[in-house]
Amino acid sequence: MRELVVATRNRGKIKEIQAYLEGVVEVVSCAADFKGFPETVEDGATFELNALKKAREAMAFTGQPALADDSGLVVDALGGRPGVYSARFAGEEADDTANNRRLLGELELVPLQQRKAAFVCALAFVAPDGAEQVFVGRVAGRILVSGQGDGGFGYDPLFLVDGFDRTMAELTIEEKNLISHRGQALRLFREYLKNVAMDDW
Ligand code: IMP
Repeated sequence: MRELVVATRNRGKIKEIQAYLEGVVEVVSCAADFKGFPETVEDGATFELNALKKAREAMAFTGQPALADDSGLVVDALGGRPGVYSARFAGEEADDTANNRRLLGELELVPLQQRKAAFVCALAFVAPDGAEQVFVGRVAGRILVSGQGDGGFGYDPLFLVDGFDRTMAELTIEEKNLISHRGQALRLFREYLKNVAMDDW
């Protein structure tokens, strides 16, 4: 089966990507399977640019087709922040609790109708023949005034999903995967892969 290098050190993401691509490609983790794999500096202005940078570096290092993702939360009332800074909204070493506290603080005076937000995921695929593709998934919602639910991670407890009366942290894993930004982007990528001929790999 064709091999795909996934440019992330996050085991959870690798498992999730493996599950989506089962039977289509064999997922190889760059961190676990290639010694000395470089850490990409995520300094792009958009999710797409960061994902592309990571995928290009992974392809250059391994010589194999590579996939990388970048994701985060975009809040309308904050002009799109935290965006690419989602993981470090409250500082370089910030954890989910600190980031959520910062988000609530910045939105303190903003009424619920104006707390529109979206989770966005960009998945970039780069092949040795120079082919590059980016797949983007997006799920819309609203930021609550306090957390609800204990599933998921990151900003999930604060994110009320449009069309559901539950937060992302109150959905089952199956429900989240069906609607999530990452799930959508992965399904687009899977469809793309099914149409790429074996000889183009
Ligand atoms: P990264 O793509 O791993 O760099 O994730 C960026 C950050 O965006 C994470 O640390 C979370 O704060 C946030 N984020 C991305 N996806 C999700 C999600 O599905 N739920 C909650 N937070 C998320």
